[in-house]
Amino acid sequence: LAVRDLSALKTDLTRMLEQVRENRDGEVASYIPKLAEADPEHLALAVCTVDGQQFSIGDDGVRFCAQSVTKPFMYAAALEEHGALYVHSRIGQEQNGGEFNMLALDSEGRPHNPMINSGAMGSAAMIRPDLPLADRYDHMHKIWARMGARPTFDNATYLSEKADGDRNYALISEMRKQGAIPREIDPREVAEFYFQNCSIEVDSPGLAAAAATLANGGRSPFGSDQVFGPDAVRNVLSQMSTSGMYDYSGEFFREIGRPGKSGVSGAVILVVPEVMAVCVYSPKLDERGNSVRGIEFCKRLAAEYKVHVFDTD
Ligand code: GLU
Repeated sequence: LAVRDLSALKTDLTRMLEQVRENRDGEVASYIPKLAEADPEHLALAVCTVDGQQFSIGDDGVRFCAQSVTKPFMYAAALEEHGALYVHSRIGQEQNGGEFNMLALDSEGRPHNPMINSGAMGSAAMIRPDLPLADRYDHMHKIWARMGARPTFDNATYLSEKADGDRNYALISEMRKQGAIPREIDPREVAEFYFQNCSIEVDSPGLAAAAATLANGGRSPFGSDQVFGPDAVRNVLSQMSTSGMYDYSGEFFREIGRPGKSGVSGAVILVVPEVMAVCVYSPKLDERGNSVRGIEFCKRLAAEYKVHVFDTD
């Protein structure tokens, strides 16, 4: 299953990217200034194989905040630290049937799953709570660096998320009240840590490398560094498959048949386990919050390359 002919793959994917460039539908996210300023025409594609082969085309030097694409990695860090049994005693595993920031918990008072805001804040509450906030951030930043993502930090995004975070503060309070976040954890720190993770800034080749770490069972595609254990990664890819694409996750999995994750900045990652990962960046979003061109690209890739896990021919 390894990618043997990278230049043939590049030729095909470049053609697909040019086809999706024609699609000018959607709107750039506007709830914070930094996102509203994104150039709606930007379009980048990056590929990273599990054995570290890479290419990227289009606006591949543009940096953007990872936003919700950090959620799988926060969940992975929480799983590494505590195991799935503990993590899922406080975070559910089912689709929430609504928006990513919906003010609702499941019937047991937990976030519905780790791929939505409440669930990611649940992960945030579990990641090295023993450490001061500065070291906790550093811990996640280093994980991104080990995956080959070359992360930086977008302070303007962080400040805006923090200033406009009312819905997230409300979710944390409710989670704390219902026991999904232990009482001894400082809820303000959870919020800040979550906003900091949303504000991690990457480019498309870096994000493809991080996603390729998931494709590679948690091992960096560029060496032998085991960033996450295979068990954690299996859980992460499962939750991405069922809940990674906002309120479009069911349709995405039916059409594409592989785990994906999107974020409001316009990034989409698609993971083809044991083969490669793809990152598309294009800031115009559909009404569900997914990058319009990102989704179209994934559909074209799945149709032409038969990547769906249930394709039989
Ligand atoms: N930072 C966003 C929020 O908490 C999440 C954005 C996203 O879904 O990418 O509302």
